[in-house]
Amino acid sequence: MVETTPRPQPTTGQLVDRFGRVATDLRVSLTDRCNLRCSYCMPADGLDWLPNERVLTDDEVVRLIRVAVERLGIREVRFTGGEPLVRRGLVDIVRRTRELSPDLELSITTNGLGLARTAPALKAAGLDRVNVSLDTIRAETFAEITRRDRLHDVVAGLKEAADAGLGPVKINAVLLRGVNDQQAPELLAWAIDMGYELRFIEQMPLDAQHGWSRDGMVTADEIFTMLEREFTLAPASEPRGSAPAELFTVDGGPATVGVIASVTRPFCGDCDRVRLTADGQVRDCLFARKESDLRTPLRDGAPDEELARLWTVAMAGKRAGHGIDDPTFLQPDRPMSAIGG
Ligand code: SAM
Ligand code: SF4
Repeated sequence: MVETTPRPQPTTGQLVDRFGRVATDLRVSLTDRCNLRCSYCMPADGLDWLPNERVLTDDEVVRLIRVAVERLGIREVRFTGGEPLVRRGLVDIVRRTRELSPDLELSITTNGLGLARTAPALKAAGLDRVNVSLDTIRAETFAEITRRDRLHDVVAGLKEAADAGLGPVKINAVLLRGVNDQQAPELLAWAIDMGYELRFIEQMPLDAQHGWSRDGMVTADEIFTMLEREFTLAPASEPRGSAPAELFTVDGGPATVGVIASVTRPFCGDCDRVRLTADGQVRDCLFARKESDLRTPLRDGAPDEELARLWTVAMAGKRAGHGIDDPTFLQPDRPMSAIGG
């Protein structure tokens, strides 16, 4: 349940919002650029990318992560994008982030293109895990969704990631009605066979084209119905905590499948996330309509304590929930690829 009565703000050392939620999981977008064009995310022609001078340098990214880890209680950092593997300094950024603390959980969300080449270096740099986005194992459906014929690269990337020890390797899948929804059971069977943990994510209104509709999206209930025709699902015993995925054992386990019902069963009341965009803006929610600029004070020479203070203040406006079902809901100006999913 989302609590609606604001609590007093704490003083320092944590990113706490008015509802008492503590952000410990930082999502860092390293670029808004991408080498795929998934139809639920980007238009076929791509987008107007951020100009280079607005994108944080490697040093700036690492400095802000350091402030978050040393002063604001961040315990988990996930690199995302756009496509984080197209960021040239990625391995170095991972290495320098790992040097901040051996206890940080460090992961990456990627489309997997080029992962086969980079996985060993990412592991050596201190990355713990990868999430790879893959919506189908049929080449023609992959090309239809992503507008690129690159399924083989993703499959190779997954294998190298597992071989490099970046596991448990998780797969994120979005289902689109009439495109890949009927393939959900075969994707699950394949993932189990390969030893990957599959999680289905409900499609959210975050595409640049504003093509999402509540009626058009495939709901978690529909996903269960489809999977239960071929598998026996039972709620996994481990508590969900702040993890967005509801986990189910498949055919008695040990294999599991996750469903992230961001739209139909929101988990905003347990949210522990905060986001930093590639151009240095703090977002307290995927669906936030306001951002807080850290790039300008950073470049103007603000000391660490001032950046930490600004970041703490930035969390104050976090809303109780994303409000997708509210009639006044407005999609954020930034699309998913520029926020960092
Ligand atoms: N390019 C990387 C990738 O695809 O994994 C990282 C960025 S991508 C924006 C992060 C995640 O957001 C992916 O798993 C993708 O499937 C998901 N995503 C993108 N658009 C979405 C949407 N409209 N609804 C739900 N998930 C979406
Ligand atoms: Fe690129 Fe990821 Fe968006 Fe697909 S979901 S277009 S891979 S950023």
